[in-house]
Amino acid sequence: MLSRSWSITAVALVTIVFLLDFGVAELPPNYTFMHEATEAPRVSFYDYIVIGGGTTGIPLAATLSANASVLLLERGGSPYGNPSITNVANFGTYFFDTSSSSPSQQFITEGVVNARSRILGGGTSINAGFYSRGEEQFNIEARLTDETLIEDSYQWIEKVMVFEPFLGGWQTALRAALVEVGVTPDNGYSYDHVIGTKTGGSIFDANGTRHTAADLLQYANPEGVSVLLHAVVHKILFKTKAGGTTPLAYGVAFEDSFGNMHKAFLKGGENDEIIVSAGALGSPQILILSGIGPKEQLDGQNIKSVLQQPLVGKNMSDNPRNGIFIPSPIAVEQSIVQVVGITEFGSYIEESGGINLVFANIEDYQGYDYQLGGFVLEKINGPISTGELKIENRNPFDNPSVTFNYFKEPEDLQKCVKGLETILAVIETEAFSNYTYANMTAQEILDLNMKLPYNQIVHANTSSSLEEYCKATVGTMWHYHGGCQIGQVVDDEYKVIGVDGLRVLDASTLLNCPGTNPQASLMMLGRYMGVKMLAQRLAVTKSYADI
Ligand code: FAD
Repeated sequence: MLSRSWSITAVALVTIVFLLDFGVAELPPNYTFMHEATEAPRVSFYDYIVIGGGTTGIPLAATLSANASVLLLERGGSPYGNPSITNVANFGTYFFDTSSSSPSQQFITEGVVNARSRILGGGTSINAGFYSRGEEQFNIEARLTDETLIEDSYQWIEKVMVFEPFLGGWQTALRAALVEVGVTPDNGYSYDHVIGTKTGGSIFDANGTRHTAADLLQYANPEGVSVLLHAVVHKILFKTKAGGTTPLAYGVAFEDSFGNMHKAFLKGGENDEIIVSAGALGSPQILILSGIGPKEQLDGQNIKSVLQQPLVGKNMSDNPRNGIFIPSPIAVEQSIVQVVGITEFGSYIEESGGINLVFANIEDYQGYDYQLGGFVLEKINGPISTGELKIENRNPFDNPSVTFNYFKEPEDLQKCVKGLETILAVIETEAFSNYTYANMTAQEILDLNMKLPYNQIVHANTSSSLEEYCKATVGTMWHYHGGCQIGQVVDDEYKVIGVDGLRVLDASTLLNCPGTNPQASLMMLGRYMGVKMLAQRLAVTKSYADI
């Protein structure tokens, strides 16, 4: 490991090199380094190959390109010029596109309909846009020790793609109601993860235009990076160094949209590496397809074993989301997650007003107009319930199968119940009274919600307890994580344990979901590790005097 003082010097060095080495940086969407994979050569060579142009992979690739050649392979297309992605009013429409070209690949676990990104920008191109930094504990779990670099990395992101939202009447009332029921203090507008109620950032700007992680490519060195779209990675290629026994990752095989296969190889330098940033489902899937995984899965699919690693695909978690649609006698503005209550008991209260797309079809509101009402949601932290990921075949286009075991652990269920109690208390507040029917009881509201088609779980039409409500109406906040966890599949530097030249960096490495919502922490992680890796490369390949 680098010493702290050395690492700060190296970070400064990387920044200087970044400034000096560049020709002209490019602004989105006119990236000359972004191409369809069909245009790529059949064989090419790079210092780094990043698999997955998503939330973590993009800041990583953009950073590495400052002083190395980088190939970024993304299985989806570009978010730019696609109004269903860029316009906030269209949030969620892509969930209903289940075609193979959809930017959102559906998967269903335990009756809960879920989504996986398939587009440059990854989750940031299809998500609800709420931006909030992770807690101190996340930095510890993620082995991020350089506080200056953590702060700089967050600011690097916030400068170009995070905005202060404008709150409408319903959100403002909800905010005040959360404070009234004791989710205190009122922390104003903040990115920080602190107990109390706050307004967080958004990656949607004041015009309702989404800014995705693809915007971070404006930091990339246009001469150092090559971004390929519709490039589906089939597997990582391994060899063994002469006289050695440890497998070394040295290339990848990927398919373009014409069905042609390409190979990209590392140039062979001491610091050259492949980094898998394909997300919590994609990264364990690619490792297993490449021969790193549990023996029974490799044998079951006739995959040549590179490394038997029983922990790949283990400890998969998804933070359950439970919501209550609260009908209102007056109109509610359309909003998605900008206010959050961070409770002491580990339940995060969030919101989505006057919008129905994500949760149900218009005609399913049991006679209530979704524009006259809104969802108050809760997500529990952790969670401690876990499941497992397995591949079902050798096709990288298909979803692996995954279990999360929602609410298997009683502690998770208790957090959900407490969160629901907080939401029910909100309904009773003075601050929220304009947005509730005075004569509608909590039980009536719960029973109304039991009839909404949240998911595919078969359950009763009325709620006899909050525990039952939690289980019956469980949904996803889309914050699933695990499968290549730090300390188990990857070491403290995110290097895959047992092989050389390979790291994993994304939500699959998380022990817990950071903060109220993870995208801020994941982008920060990409930038942070990019700076660290480049600092290590420069120390080896260049002396300070040369720079
Ligand atoms: P991703 O960002 O998903 O990136 C993985 C990339 O790898 C994808 O682009 C994928 O196409 C690519 N890939 C996968 N397999 C291959 C392959 N074989 N070959 C090539 N490329 C491949 N978080 C928040 O903080 N705030 C929110 O408001 C919020 N709302 C959300 C709403 C939705 C609908 C979703 C889906 C997520 C939401 N999240 C939110 C969660 C957050 O977006 C994700 O946790 C985060 O984006 C995950 O980042 P990642 O880098 O792990 O993976």
